[in-house]
Amino acid sequence: MPVSKTDFVRALQCEKMLWLDAHMPELKIIPPEVQARLDAGNEFGDKAMSIFGEYVETTTLKEDGRLDYAAMLEKTKTLLQAGTPVICEGAFSWYGNYCAADILKKDGEKYALYEVKNTTEIRKEFLVDLGFQRLILRKCGIPLSASFLVLRCDESAGQVCIEHAGERYKIVDVTKESRSFERIVDSKIFVYGKIKKRDAVMPDIPVGEQCEKPYRCWYYGHCHKDCPRE
Ligand code: SF4
Repeated sequence: MPVSKTDFVRALQCEKMLWLDAHMPELKIIPPEVQARLDAGNEFGDKAMSIFGEYVETTTLKEDGRLDYAAMLEKTKTLLQAGTPVICEGAFSWYGNYCAADILKKDGEKYALYEVKNTTEIRKEFLVDLGFQRLILRKCGIPLSASFLVLRCDESAGQVCIEHAGERYKIVDVTKESRSFERIVDSKIFVYGKIKKRDAVMPDIPVGEQCEKPYRCWYYGHCHKDCPRE
């Protein structure tokens, strides 16, 4: 089964989480404060799209409001062929494994990749996210140069901020780190795909540290009701 970058990052935290996402998503409970944080992240990302000036976004919705991935893939292909300088939410698929890139910016004959996160610090899961994108884009034949995180700028830390659209951003080059995660993604992507298969057996993973790190799992209540840690 195809794996998205969200699937991959979640599976790296816990493979059982991915299985539950695929087979029993109704057990998931997203706390309102987490949903609010996700919504704020989307808003922060939307504002960042114009950070390099004029851009073209591929996001396309179906009549029912869901993303039209096929249309986005087609539009991305057309924009790349035209050498569009800045593409936002460019969509890519390799054996069905799918990702959308927040910002692709022309860098000579190649494209530089930018992932926007509404936080001030670099986290491992952001590098995994970029590693996933790098692998899929490379397999799709996209010539990539560097990879960057676009983060919220922390003024108190004396950082150089970019003021844009009412926000303060900083751009961090994480090319080397994201390349090393690209190799990890390559080694696990099809393993994770098997966990999503209809007849896959649920991974036998006991509750533990991974239930809280890096994020409190949305299946926490389900998994802990029979096996409390205390
Ligand atoms: S609560 Fe823990 S064991 Fe259960 S799916 Fe989440 S991370 Fe995995």
